[in-house]
Amino acid sequence: MSNAANIHRANDPHDFLNLQTLVDSEELAIQQSVRRFVEDRVLPEIGDWYDEGVFPRDLAKEMGSLGLLGMHLEGYGCAGTNAVSYGLACLELEAGDSGFRSFVSVQGSLAMFPIHAFGSEEQKQQWLPGMAAGELIGCFGLTEPDSGSDPGSMRTTARRDGTDWILNGTKMWITNGPIADVAIIWARAEEGIRGFVVPTTTPGFTANTVHKKASLRASVTGELVLEDVRLPETAVLPGVVGLRGPLSCLNEARFGILFGAVGAGRACYESALAYSISREQFGQSIAGFQLVQRKLVEMMISVNRSTLVALHLGRLKDAGTLTPAQVSFGKMDNVRQALDVAREARNSLGANGITLEYPVIRHMNNLESVYTYEGTNEIHTLALGHAITGIAAYR
Ligand code: FAD
Repeated sequence: MSNAANIHRANDPHDFLNLQTLVDSEELAIQQSVRRFVEDRVLPEIGDWYDEGVFPRDLAKEMGSLGLLGMHLEGYGCAGTNAVSYGLACLELEAGDSGFRSFVSVQGSLAMFPIHAFGSEEQKQQWLPGMAAGELIGCFGLTEPDSGSDPGSMRTTARRDGTDWILNGTKMWITNGPIADVAIIWARAEEGIRGFVVPTTTPGFTANTVHKKASLRASVTGELVLEDVRLPETAVLPGVVGLRGPLSCLNEARFGILFGAVGAGRACYESALAYSISREQFGQSIAGFQLVQRKLVEMMISVNRSTLVALHLGRLKDAGTLTPAQVSFGKMDNVRQALDVAREARNSLGANGITLEYPVIRHMNNLESVYTYEGTNEIHTLALGHAITGIAAYR
């Protein structure tokens, strides 16, 4: 064999920089088990779920038994893995569909994390084991119809009535809202923003499904209406007052997203690579055209580069030094990279790129939501601008 052929064979198109060597055996085992779950349980049906606009709630318990729910939290039935393992699980889930990664992010980072970090012992005992098992589903209500990028402008109120709390307001775009057993609701109280653990069966609480979504269709999104929802004193999260509460949850969830987006991008690149090699036009494989190769190479570089960023940020998180602005870097850049890859891959598949027979347009449409939620591209740009100049330019 010639040296050129040897060199060619040494390069794995699916892990070009051999980044697997940056992951230890335990992390790799977790990644591979999530990948198998996605291949066996998600990929065969995801096109139909997306088409029909359903999230298969039954799979929540399977994800629970795999330890994927609240997997980076300690105790209360949670797996207690390191951050890199949690990230790699998110990567593989999102290689299946962003809806699955969203489910796991919301359950673990947005609903379980605040109870774990700011809840009373009683709240932890009551909710976390069932949520870790996937028997109870949680959601996170921060965004409102008139309060998105600027959560400090929220209108939902919490007022005291004796020892009880009374909540009023509307939350919008809430992932898992209509299927949730418990909602973490952020509301404006006299002393500042407070978080509440609200059972969704509480009188006055209504969840309406958002229909006609063209993105993240295999994920349930809802509007939550709170009309004089009366809660006992024990419903408030005692450990935090102010926007720091919801923002620290978002920081956790964004960490999962910066890994997850790599998975969506990888799935699109791999689909475009396989398609380009097998598709023939002008009497030859389209992968033999220079313009097509350029696209494939750009996609491959993007996926490898964003994997490196994710793994590096994961190591910083495990070392306890990861800053929110570094998370903004990863969320912003990895999501836009994945969206660029998805759009190029969509183009590479020609007409087949617009059908759900292939994963690409599904990922592309999903990534539009991922680009917007958990801090838009602009808001993370401003967070990074603030971090490097010391000047806040949000308003
Ligand atoms: P806006 O804040 O109105 O922004 C509109 C545009 O203006 C954006 O491009 C934005 O970047 C830009 N903009 C705003 N302010 C500035 C500025 N200062 N400078 C420059 N540009 C600016 N929320 C939850 O609480 N819980 C959930 O579970 C949840 N799930 C979601 C699921 C889906 C599918 C989607 C789409 C959203 C979800 N969200 C959820 C809401 C999401 O977090 C918000 O959509 C997001 O924060 C943006 O808010 P907005 O849609 O109101 O947009």
